Amino acid sequence: MKTINFGIDLGTTNSLIAKYENGLLEVFKNPIGQKQTLASAVAFRGSRILVGDKARDLLEKDPLNVFTCFKRKMGTTDRYFAKSINKDVSPIELSAYVLKELKNFIHTGEELHEAVITIPSSFDTIQSNATKTAGQEAGFKKVYLLQEPIAASLAFANKNNLELNETKKWLIYDFGGGTFDVALLEINEREMNVLDNEGDNFLGGMDIDNLIIEKLLVPKLEPILNETKLWDKFKEPNNPLQKLYFELLFRAEEAKKELSRFETTEIDIDYPEKDIYTSIEVTRDGFNNLLAPLVEHTINFCKKILNNNNLISTDIEKIIMVGGSTLIPYVREQVEKNLNIIIDTSVDPTAAVGIGAAYYAGSKISALKPEDIKPPTTNQTEVSTSTQPLVNLIFEKNTKDTEELLAFKLNSSLQGFYRVIRKDGGFDTGLVTLQDNVNVFVDLLEGQVNSFSLKIYNSNQDVVYTNNDIHINQGKYNIQGQLLPNDICLEIDDIQYNVTRLEAIFNKNSVLPLKKTIYKSASKTILKDSDDKLQINIVEGDGNGLPSSGLSIGYIEITGKELEQDLIKGTDIELNISVSESRDIDVDIFLTSCDQEFSNSFKPTERYISNSKMENEIRVVTQKIEREIAKPENAENYELLQKFKNIEHALIELQIELSLLVDNDITDAKFKIDNQKRSLIQKYDLLTRHKELDNDIEEYKNNVLAVKQVLAESGSEYYMAELNKVIANEKTFINSGNKYLIRSKIEELRVIRNAIFTADDSNFIGPFFHYKTLDNYPDQQKANILIAEGDKALENKQYKVVKQVVYQLASMLPDDKPKTSFNNQDKTGLS
Ligand code: ADP
Ligand code: MG
Repeated sequence: MKTINFGIDLGTTNSLIAKYENGLLEVFKNPIGQKQTLASAVAFRGSRILVGDKARDLLEKDPLNVFTCFKRKMGTTDRYFAKSINKDVSPIELSAYVLKELKNFIHTGEELHEAVITIPSSFDTIQSNATKTAGQEAGFKKVYLLQEPIAASLAFANKNNLELNETKKWLIYDFGGGTFDVALLEINEREMNVLDNEGDNFLGGMDIDNLIIEKLLVPKLEPILNETKLWDKFKEPNNPLQKLYFELLFRAEEAKKELSRFETTEIDIDYPEKDIYTSIEVTRDGFNNLLAPLVEHTINFCKKILNNNNLISTDIEKIIMVGGSTLIPYVREQVEKNLNIIIDTSVDPTAAVGIGAAYYAGSKISALKPEDIKPPTTNQTEVSTSTQPLVNLIFEKNTKDTEELLAFKLNSSLQGFYRVIRKDGGFDTGLVTLQDNVNVFVDLLEGQVNSFSLKIYNSNQDVVYTNNDIHINQGKYNIQGQLLPNDICLEIDDIQYNVTRLEAIFNKNSVLPLKKTIYKSASKTILKDSDDKLQINIVEGDGNGLPSSGLSIGYIEITGKELEQDLIKGTDIELNISVSESRDIDVDIFLTSCDQEFSNSFKPTERYISNSKMENEIRVVTQKIEREIAKPENAENYELLQKFKNIEHALIELQIELSLLVDNDITDAKFKIDNQKRSLIQKYDLLTRHKELDNDIEEYKNNVLAVKQVLAESGSEYYMAELNKVIANEKTFINSGNKYLIRSKIEELRVIRNAIFTADDSNFIGPFFHYKTLDNYPDQQKANILIAEGDKALENKQYKVVKQVVYQLASMLPDDKPKTSFNNQDKTGLS
């Protein structure tokens, strides 16, 4: 069994490749210059493509042909135009160039078919997919994704050779060049678990560099250059001032690093085009002021994670600082002071993620089969019959001991032998007579994955069971599984309310991989051979939120053309949905009524953001907020009003930012705005949801009372039992906060009330008088006949007839209820 061994940190600013095998860690250095990290930059120079520091050095000179920070646009439809080759290149292609360059660092002559590549834990499914695609474009047959905070903590735990006697909790604070991530981790003497993570994909060192330019340099440069709106001009494509911008970007980053060591620094500015040579002094205090809101933002994420997990500062042993931006003294100070938790800066902040990726890779068994690398040969490999459910096998997958227990129990009684062999042959039990319960202590090689095979023989010494899948990782810390960063949901129709809503399939923080079968029904009919289609959106976000507050990551589609029979409204649809550890989503669909199966039906999408769509979404929500603010019932609730106003204010600011964006803005501002927009809509959603929920709970309680009242009069035992069924789990569903559940309970109560009512014919006397007074019957003559019939029945106390008359009169009235739109094309097709 081969382990993957190679780990790659594909960073926004810097990338790194490392290997861990047989207890040895190696960070590969760039053969040119011997640096550990490679700048994540690509330059196009006619037929030549330069990658890394050489490319970054060209940024000032040739900004239109050098690309950096493309990690931020992974998975989006944005492209970079490279002038020198007159072509658009995608963020995925650029990342693939970086990966290919990293492969060149390997001096051992090994050929790389697979690797672990790290991603920020806040990367959504689209961004994760894009990273895998980049790996494939770089020639990897298989790519395994690992979340960066996990990688960093593996590096930390394994470097310090920790001896823990009790379980501890840590925060991993990763502030890099382009992203900020914080993860909550639990670690014991054997392994660690990620409990939660939070982060912002659009917050990093490059934002600090830009702030230096915008807030410190631009105001000083405008009078010197005799320019206005310099900051806007910097961002316009093809503006001649852009060259100056890239020079300033370079200088600002240098100055930022200087300020990590000194109290003041000078930024030299050379602009020969206007014969300007000047220098601007920047002090650490001025810089810190600039930084304060960004750092506060990161600290708020840390507080949020503590809050969400009901933890206080003293529950956390330490905060492990990684990422280049944690070299800033102010960042370290503020984090420690505000959170009141000790920070630990002992790992190399720019290498930790890559090193941790290697540790992970060194313990992870390759999923590649020989034929994935070479064409299949005719030679038969050893057949593994490990799926045979013959034994219950138990062993620890991670250990610090040099000996571990393998225990197994046969499902059926068998006379014979067993044998356990370590793959290198260094441990072998030989043939041992079987007992009902077998306990074997196996010897382990230190600092590596130990693979064993277990064979069971019958009394003739014929093999009846083989298991080659026993791997024990000795010495190094390992991770128990990565977490899903957001809910993965289906967007389905809510026919009753004529809207679409989200239904979570997998919840945030579930441990990957995940698999689930769910049953839905078709909410419309799709005829065989028609152009009609069943399209089900898959959304990543908060499962309790509005569909527009989530991110559409792809869809499942079945068209009439693919159907062998008509798909009938209301029939069952079985969906088998899985998410792998590397976040591959797979959906198999089975249509019960057509007896037809569709596999791999999930189609991932790229992220496309239109400024006008965003503006529109912001406008819709601000209007809704205005309406909320104007509602009389909210007038006295100052706290709530303030919350609405804050969200509205932030949305309006976003709208202004958006309106200032030029159409083909070269920065990633629109993605940033989109992220903020989504989080604001989520906040609004949460506020109103609680209010709606309170109303629903109120309505539910009133309905229970009403049913109890009618029951007190009628005294039906049958309906009493029905009522008790509905309210049996009252506490649970009220606390669930699930409005759909509560609404369905209200509906059930209405049905009972209605049934009690209609069971007694004399209850129809009141309604009869109501219908008698109406004069808007389209056929008034027929109505009059019915009314006369009703009057007579009433006189004779024939209440059954009165009831029938009421039904008939009701059916004659024009239907003013909203039509349910089962065939609405905009709907999802699932309910
Ligand atoms: P990424 O993981 O995003 O590639 P890194 O963790 O390598 O990023 O951090 C890169 C960021 O750290 C850059 O924005 C860089 O300017 C910043 N950085 C590096 N060294 C320092 C320093 N001494 N002081 C302040 N910032 C630094
Ligand atoms: Mg990083």
